[in-house]
Amino acid sequence: MGGGQNIVLRARWVVPVEGPPIENGAVAIHDGGVVAVATARDLAATALEDLGDVVLLPGFVNAHTHLELSRLVGVLPTDSGFVPWLERLTAMLRAGADPDRDIEASVRAGLRESAASGVTVLADVTRRPEVVRRLLADGPLRALSFGEVIAVGRIRGELTSRLDAAAGVGAPGHVGGSRPADSSCLLRIGISPHSPYTVEPDGLRACAARAGETALPLCVHLAETAEEEMFTVGGTAIEGAAPERGPLQKYLKRLDVWDDAVPCPRRRPVELAAECGLLRNDTVLAHANFVSDADIQIIAESGAHVAYCPRTHRAFGHPPHRFREMLGARINVCVGTDSLASNPSLSVLDELRFLRREFPHVPPQTLLRMGTLNGARALGWDERIGSLRPGKDADIVAVPYDTSGPTDPLVNVLTSTLAPAAAYVRGIRRAP
Ligand SMILES: [Zn+2]
Repeated sequence: MGGGQNIVLRARWVVPVEGPPIENGAVAIHDGGVVAVATARDLAATALEDLGDVVLLPGFVNAHTHLELSRLVGVLPTDSGFVPWLERLTAMLRAGADPDRDIEASVRAGLRESAASGVTVLADVTRRPEVVRRLLADGPLRALSFGEVIAVGRIRGELTSRLDAAAGVGAPGHVGGSRPADSSCLLRIGISPHSPYTVEPDGLRACAARAGETALPLCVHLAETAEEEMFTVGGTAIEGAAPERGPLQKYLKRLDVWDDAVPCPRRRPVELAAECGLLRNDTVLAHANFVSDADIQIIAESGAHVAYCPRTHRAFGHPPHRFREMLGARINVCVGTDSLASNPSLSVLDELRFLRREFPHVPPQTLLRMGTLNGARALGWDERIGSLRPGKDADIVAVPYDTSGPTDPLVNVLTSTLAPAAAYVRGIRRAP
């Protein structure tokens, strides 16, 4: 539904992303869409709403999160590494007394926090798509909901039912497709084979095939940890015995999921994903923390997108992420927060500010694109959002301009600690 109203938002600065910043700028909105981006003088109108000392930007795109884990903020330590964290997470999820009620509370809290932080669209991964999509459909944000598939060892038989749930078989009311059908579509769905250690190669192939048949986008956690590569490559097999698969094999054994029929692909995760058909131009690769030069080449040629989760990456103490080399290889790198089980907030702006501090030589325009237009591209939504220009939807965030900060509006936003003052989805104010 459109906003129905005509408004002109005036700000000290407008940063359209595609095009230079506009001082004393304004964005004219009609029926939820942007109709003009210009100086306030050029757009002088009766319905001008002056937001004052703020910078208007396209809404932030969170390209990877799990809202259903929002209640786990700060309870799981990350400093002893990924596998112990994953094991505690799995135990907590298994111990939940009323999982659907927990999920509902978590998703609602996560949506509120996301909107308040200026995120206007998110790619959410869920194990309970039928529950979470009902909540996402209520708004307030635009969302791409990936249903998660886990099928390995003793639970490999769950592949088809998980895949059907992810693809929305039998579920009413969603709008699917790699590309949004029309501008009023604010919820789309996709399929997420969780990872190469929780879905066997045949399952990964089945997910890729279903995505192809149904034109649904894909998301997969890939090359996230060194342990994942140990798992997919395997150690040296002695005298015909099965190869050692490392800590993730032990994790699956402790969960009582492992059986000896779990195949060892003897490929690096990126090679395996490519072989199984997962690297498509509508696939989001979450993390890609451990990639070789050859892997970067493979990803670049495939057109798959990388969702780098900077503070989660840091929390697990991984070696430096290769996002700059990826960008140099023309991979579309965007930003995700991952969940509150491994990250202090769901704010993409916080991620960009973290990157600004850690990588001061990366141009601020590059960081902003990673948090907006690149994310929109990764989610197949760049025709509608990701920048402020006539013809796109009015998904907009207003970040206070710190009058004691740097004069450049983008550097100002990236170096201040001020929270967004307002966020709009299709011209409708959603926060605060
Ligand atoms: Zn994740």
